[in-house]
Amino acid sequence: MKTALIALVAVALGGVAPSQESLIVPLPTITLPVRVHLVQSDSMPAMHTTLVESDIRRIFSKVNSVWAQAGIQFEIESIAPTTAIPMPPEMRLKPEFDRVHSMIPKDRLSADAIDICYVKEVQPNGFYYGEPIVVKDTAKLREVSGGLDEPLPRVTSHEIGHALGLKHRQDTTNLMQSGTTGFSLNEAEIAIARGKVSAYLSRNK
Ligand SMILES: [Zn+2]
Repeated sequence: MKTALIALVAVALGGVAPSQESLIVPLPTITLPVRVHLVQSDSMPAMHTTLVESDIRRIFSKVNSVWAQAGIQFEIESIAPTTAIPMPPEMRLKPEFDRVHSMIPKDRLSADAIDICYVKEVQPNGFYYGEPIVVKDTAKLREVSGGLDEPLPRVTSHEIGHALGLKHRQDTTNLMQSGTTGFSLNEAEIAIARGKVSAYLSRNK
């Protein structure tokens, strides 16, 4: 009682007011399901990932540590091999993202999870031009101070950022900068991404 009274008096005198940090309420966590496709192909080495389930589990534990700053988490719905289909001849002169998408069997894609396909080699490290997200398992990044310790979780997190409505931001060392290991998000990006996740979840209910 006496202690409480002293504390009250101290607060009244401006002595031990709670710090700013302790007043920040963490964002409620929202969780989005992810379906992971390990693309396989005997005839097209570029479309054949050599990642295995334990790699994906490691990658996504780091993806979740990146996205925790936005209160967004990804729950792996499934990890399965997906055999690439031969590219239709009319796709040969199309942009690479169209060609790669044409080789992913559409009946394997999920109606209510974000689809991510891992392949061996595409020109960028990964891309998002509508689902599925595509990431190459040979991705390389320029290391920056305080960045992630391996490329694949960062490339995966960056492409998820695009899928959640974020554009490139080519300054400092942030998640939406092209080609580096940085992973910070600003408040505006967090708001956009959370809005998109909420819209995504309500659309698929
Ligand atoms: Zn990008």
